[in-house]
Amino acid sequence: METSRKTMAQELDTDVVVIGGGPAGAAFARKLAEFGHQIVILEKAAFPRPHVGICLSDATEMLLDQFNVRDAVHSAGFFRRKSVLVKWGTDQPLISDQPGLHVDRGVFDRILLESARRASVTTIQPGRFLTARRRLGGWQVIVENGQRTINLQSRFLVDASGRANAFPGQQVRYAPPLFALHATWRLCNRPDYDGIMESGKNAWMWIACLAGQEAQISVYTDPALLASRGKRSVGSYYESMLDEFSLIRHFHRDEILGEIQCCDASSRHSSHPVGADFLRVGDANLSLDPMASQGVHLALTSGIQAAIVVNTILCFPELALIAQRFYQERQEERVRQFRHRTASEYQRVACFSSESFWQERAINAVRPPPVHADNRLPLTPSQTLELSPHAQFLETPVMKSDRISLEPALHHPRLDRPVAFVGETEVCPLLRGLNGNHTVGAILAAWESKIPGNLGLQIIQWLWEHEVLVAR
Ligand SMILES: Cc1cc2nc3c(=O)[nH]c(=O)nc-3n(C[C@H](O)[C@H](O)[C@H](O)COP(=O)(O)OP(=O)(O)OC[C@H]3O[C@@H](n4cnc5c(N)ncnc54)[C@H](O)[C@@H]3O)c2cc1C
Repeated sequence: METSRKTMAQELDTDVVVIGGGPAGAAFARKLAEFGHQIVILEKAAFPRPHVGICLSDATEMLLDQFNVRDAVHSAGFFRRKSVLVKWGTDQPLISDQPGLHVDRGVFDRILLESARRASVTTIQPGRFLTARRRLGGWQVIVENGQRTINLQSRFLVDASGRANAFPGQQVRYAPPLFALHATWRLCNRPDYDGIMESGKNAWMWIACLAGQEAQISVYTDPALLASRGKRSVGSYYESMLDEFSLIRHFHRDEILGEIQCCDASSRHSSHPVGADFLRVGDANLSLDPMASQGVHLALTSGIQAAIVVNTILCFPELALIAQRFYQERQEERVRQFRHRTASEYQRVACFSSESFWQERAINAVRPPPVHADNRLPLTPSQTLELSPHAQFLETPVMKSDRISLEPALHHPRLDRPVAFVGETEVCPLLRGLNGNHTVGAILAAWESKIPGNLGLQIIQWLWEHEVLVAR
């Protein structure tokens, strides 16, 4: 029997085991290693391996400096996108500036994982997470590594296994289901556009140019429609769907390289993102509608945040519950943001289409309350302002350089989230001194010793736009 040939060849002790060496696992491990912890990443696939999620924005490129990999990513020869042709619910397409990169995720993820290794993170690759059992003071983790089984002891367990959700736990879908069909095509010539996004009857299409006159062409639809295709193969269904999109004519397709792939692309979040001895990060915690093209960005940023949370739990036990609350609240906040943001994109098409595909996905679109026209005007030094009666200063979990701690933060119904700092400046001490009404000039004079005048004016203007400071 296969299992009888396997031997308990190795026993390892470590602080933290991370399941998955994608962007979230690598970013988390690299950041946590900077705090001096011993970390082992388990990655079941040998890299480079193919992976969905190839479009990165300029904002994601900026994040790469945090892992010291910007040069390596730039030298990898990925396709650089400048603009995209978009036809979204309207008859006429528009060119939209969307600078970014279309990467080979096999190569990109390897660069990130190497960065974690350079920070002394151990990787077991191929290392498939099989199971974990709680034991005194942590976990016993069983890993399949080729023909052998490795037995790891660790204090903390992190699930960064993406949509595989290797560590058991409930996942909640927070938008109607979505399914992706995609393939890489060789093109007959170099197309005029770097990318195309188009809405169709019951689906939308995304084309991303790749280096070497190739393009990835994806179609996103409802899994129920795919299931109702009858006896047609997935391949012929995919190709017939492509013909529905008018902008596909800009891409002269030669042949499919490899196979047509299909995967679930629904938006989900875990119902239990963090506990005293485990945490989920990246897609294992929160997966987004691919329309956002933000999955890798979120995996990297939440990886950094998660490392500070785990460092707090391991090194500052008195702050452990605060750190868990911080992580839970950030997840809830992102679910709210992305649910509304994505639904608003579907809403733009739902305005013109009665198809249930668009109508159902637009349900959660809510417009943010508009900024009052007066609050958009630049303030004058003589304008008299006072603190809104709805502003509150409450102790709130806040992220510092190496830990989560309780700090006073400004809460107000107009703010998406509590605000403790603007840049390096603490907001609450500035506002607590504002009893009664003051002119803008007087507020700036009172803040003079704490912040430069131009920053002070920006903060006042921002507080005014958000109705934290109101007219007398
Ligand atoms: C169709 C589609 C298109 C997308 N397009 C975009 C896009 O254009 N831009 C964008 O930013 N995002 C996009 N995304 C989202 C993006 O792919 C993810 O958000 C991102 O990959 C999440 O990173 P991660 O590290 O959390 O998970 P992953 O990248 O999935 O990494 C998880 C890793 O865990 C490993 N693993 C899984 N199970 C185990 C196990 N049992 N043991 C050990 N290792 C394991 C896997 O091999 C994998 O390497 C798209 C998603 C989909 C579904």
